Amino acid sequence: MKLSPQDLDICCGHLKDETAQAASVSQPISTPIHQTSLFSFDRFEDLSHGLANEFTTPVYSRGRNPSMTSVEQKLAALEQGEACKLFASGMGAISAAISALVSQGDHILFVNQVYGPTIQLATQLARFGVTFTCVTSGNLNEAEQAIQPNTKLIWFESPGTMTFTQLDIRALVAIAQARGILTGIDNTWATPLLQKPITMGVDIVAHSLTKYIGGHSDVVAGALITREALLKDIFFKTFLLNGAAIGPMDAYLIERGLRTLPVRLAQHEANGLAVAQFLQEQNTVETVFHPALQQDASVPEEQLQGYTGLFSFSLKQNEYATVAAVLNALKHFRMGVSWGGFESLAISPQRPDNAEALKHAGLPQGLIRLSVGLESADTLINDLSQALSHAK
Ligand SMILES: *Cc1c(COP(=O)(O)O)cnc(C)c1O
Repeated sequence: MKLSPQDLDICCGHLKDETAQAASVSQPISTPIHQTSLFSFDRFEDLSHGLANEFTTPVYSRGRNPSMTSVEQKLAALEQGEACKLFASGMGAISAAISALVSQGDHILFVNQVYGPTIQLATQLARFGVTFTCVTSGNLNEAEQAIQPNTKLIWFESPGTMTFTQLDIRALVAIAQARGILTGIDNTWATPLLQKPITMGVDIVAHSLTKYIGGHSDVVAGALITREALLKDIFFKTFLLNGAAIGPMDAYLIERGLRTLPVRLAQHEANGLAVAQFLQEQNTVETVFHPALQQDASVPEEQLQGYTGLFSFSLKQNEYATVAAVLNALKHFRMGVSWGGFESLAISPQRPDNAEALKHAGLPQGLIRLSVGLESADTLINDLSQALSHAK
């Protein structure tokens, strides 16, 4: 894992509280929680000015609350983007971005394996005359072929959801820019510590902060990072009106997560690699889908500066009953959705009756996804070792 020293300083550093009195000689070391729905003014002229500048001025907490500000500044700095907006969830951020940027008659192109609910959102946008295509392979030639004259936005993930294959981000951006198409990436897997898509020309970065950045499985939150003008557009067109604002307490929890993100990621990486290498040696395992173990020469190595603890593997005995038997035999891994917390989790997209759907989505049978937590790697490997005896 190659982390930049500046990033460590941003994560752990202290930003001055904008509301603290200048005269005070002492400052709180932790960011105060501004548990308030509205901000009152002495003068009507100041309230009117605030309402006309809601993007930057705290007037009402559905728009801005100072508890958001330091986290937004930190995330923008980490992504090396101009501006950031926090949201009540990752989907709040993704839906605000996509629905602000496309209009009736526009087409969206999804490249690589993309988070399921993002595709479900696009399905709903069909009711408003927006169409979409998915190129689940992540193959850039196929993606280029799928561009239509009305393609407005290319939305992608790298590494992709569920199978964690990477694509050449700069090459995809070049394809989009040549046609004046906006690009957006869901950078949740890598976090800004391991991948900075804006430096590669991507227009918009989205995060579910619920995962590694929150890191403690106790908060749901999201963020967008992009150019200030574009973020303002999203702020007024959808953010303020959809009402997916983060609460002050949740913003505080996200900043607390950020402070330990670098050390947690190093442990997730080490544990994840140890578990992935163990799985690769098992004769019950067909393929391990971990970005470190599926290097693709067409993807520049420096694109990703390390690995997290989320990856998947497929079983040779890949029928539903075997997947269920292995999952049910796990004693230490818990079963659950979400990922990126301290705890190890396992899940599978397989159901008794969805073979066709998995094939259509480009996912193998017998797939199990692991979110490797911060426990001892030996504990996790021993647990998987005994569970895999049910896959013989
Ligand atoms: C969880 C997740 C989301 C959605 O985030 P929420 O905070 O649950 O709304 C989006 N993208 C990816 C890749 C995710 O894993």
